[in-house]
Amino acid sequence: MSDLPAGVERRTFDGRERLATEGEPVYGEPTDEGWRAWDARRSKLGAMLERGLDTTLQGGETVLYLGAAAGTTVSHVADFAGPTYAVEFAARPARDLLDAAEPRPNLFPLLKDARKPETYAHVVEPCDVIVQDVATRGQAKVANANATFLDEGGVLLAAIKARSEDVVANPSEVFERELDTLEAAYDVVATERLEPFHDDHLGVVARKR
Ligand code: SAM
Repeated sequence: MSDLPAGVERRTFDGRERLATEGEPVYGEPTDEGWRAWDARRSKLGAMLERGLDTTLQGGETVLYLGAAAGTTVSHVADFAGPTYAVEFAARPARDLLDAAEPRPNLFPLLKDARKPETYAHVVEPCDVIVQDVATRGQAKVANANATFLDEGGVLLAAIKARSEDVVANPSEVFERELDTLEAAYDVVATERLEPFHDDHLGVVARKR
C-alpha cells in the first residue's frame, strides 16, 4: 500500500476505518474532531488511494482539477493541497462547488469547458498535478489539451470511464485506446481498475513528457 499524502489520514468513523481530510463537511459525510470521511465510492481519486495506486501526492501541491462537479472530491483535494483550480462546465453543480469553496481560500472554482484550456490559461498558474474526472467522450484528449499547465515530469491522475467513450465496447479495449492517446503528451507509469468502488473505471498515473 503506497503512502498517503500529508493531510490525508485513515480514521475511524462509525466503527469503520476510512480515508479522511481535515476541513468543513461538503456532502453530508461523517465528521469527527474536524476530520471528514472521504467516501471512495463517491470519489475516483479516493478510490485510487484506496486501491493503493502510487499517486505521488505528498500534500501541498498546486492542482488543476478537471470535472469538479459539486465539489465532492475537489474539496478533499483542497483540504490537503495548495492552490486548487476546479474546472466544471455545468452551471448547476457549480453552484454547490461555490459553497464548497466558500470556507476554502485555496479552492478556485472556474465555470469553464476543460476542452478549451485557452479560456482559463490566464487564471491558472503552472501546476504540479492535474486530477481529471470528466466522464465524457474524449477523456484522454482533454488530459492532453491541459498538459500545457504541467512542467515536464508533472503528474496526471485521471479516472477513465469506459462507458463514456463507448457503451458497448469491452472496457479493456477502451482503456487501451485512451492510454495510447495519452502517450502523445504523457508517459503512463501506473494503472489500476477502480472496482469495487467504481465499475468500468481505470485509474491512471502519468507523467508529462
Ligand atoms: N470529480 C467529481 C467528484 O468526484 O466530485 C465528479 C465528476 S462527474 C463524474 C463528471 C463532471 O465532469 C460532471 O460534473 C460534468 O459536468 C463535468 N464535465 C464533463 N465534461 C466537462 C468539460 N469538458 N469541462 C468541464 N467539466 C466537464
